[in-house]
Amino acid sequence: MVINEHPFKGNFYLADLNPLSRTIHHLPEEKQSCNIHKIIEPHIKMIDTESNVNRFLLLNEDFNICKCCMPNKHELFNKNISID
Ligand SMILES: [Zn+2]
Repeated sequence: MVINEHPFKGNFYLADLNPLSRTIHHLPEEKQSCNIHKIIEPHIKMIDTESNVNRFLLLNEDFNICKCCMPNKHELFNKNISID
């Protein structure tokens, strides 16, 4: 769900910066298995638009797309990587 309070600020995309997860979630489609509530604030980076998500992924190659809240993008993203 989209949360307006700090640190979420009403943005749709959340990058979990935890070195053990390094995953991007889409909050409007958040699933129980995303465990957003377990992500601690220093690991939260909010991203406002999908094009900025794509940019972030280009700059941070070791990040993943969450397969629970963005299954289509997850599939596409993994396909792109295997082509490379
Ligand atoms: Zn997710």
